Amino acid sequence: MRVGVLAIQGSVEEHIDKLKRLDGITPVEAKDKETLKRVDALILPGGESTAIGKMLNDFDLKDVIIELYRSGAPIWGTCAGMILMAKHIVNDDKVHLGIMDIKVRRNAYGSQLDSFTTKLSMPDVSKDEIDAVFIRAPYIEDVGENVKVLSRYNGKIVAAREGNLFATSFHPELTNDLSFYKYFLGLQ
Ligand code: GLN
Repeated sequence: MRVGVLAIQGSVEEHIDKLKRLDGITPVEAKDKETLKRVDALILPGGESTAIGKMLNDFDLKDVIIELYRSGAPIWGTCAGMILMAKHIVNDDKVHLGIMDIKVRRNAYGSQLDSFTTKLSMPDVSKDEIDAVFIRAPYIEDVGENVKVLSRYNGKIVAAREGNLFATSFHPELTNDLSFYKYFLGLQ
C-alpha cells in the first residue's frame, strides 16, 4: 500500500519515518499531481494551513486530492491538515479543500508557547491512552451528522472521522505511538 504524505511544508519527514515502521506500507513524499494520483492513502501534515493552502492553489493540487477523497482513499489531516479539510473555519474566511463536515477553530489553544503534551482516551483507536502533542492546534467546534467524534480534550473535539476522512488536532508523528496510523490504514 502506497501512503502519500503531502510534501509542501510542515512535518513531512516525521510522518514518513513513522510509516516506515509499518509492515506492507510504502511511504511516498507527494508534492505533484502525478505522485498524488498514484497513492492509496494520503496524510496532510501539520504546518501552516495558510501557506499549504496557498500552495495547493498555486500548484493546482486541490482537485487531485478531492478526487482521491471521492475515490474512497483514506485521507488524514493532522493539525494544519485538519484545517485544510474542514468545510468551515470559524476564525478564518478561507476554506481550502472543504471536504470534511467539521467546523474548526484555528490556534484554539493560543500561541506557540501554549503548546503542550497530554494523554487522550480514544477507544476506537487504542485500548490504552495515547500521547498527544498540541502545537498551535485547532479544535473542532461542531461536526455534521455523519462525523464520528473519536476523542475530546477538556470537552473539545480533537479527533474525528467521517467515512474515509480522519482528522486529529494533535501530532502523532511526534510521539512513538503508531496506533492512529494503524487505525487510519485499517491495520489494527
Ligand atoms: N496554527 C497552524 C495553522 O493554523 C496549525 C499548527 C500546526 O499544524 N501545528 O495552520
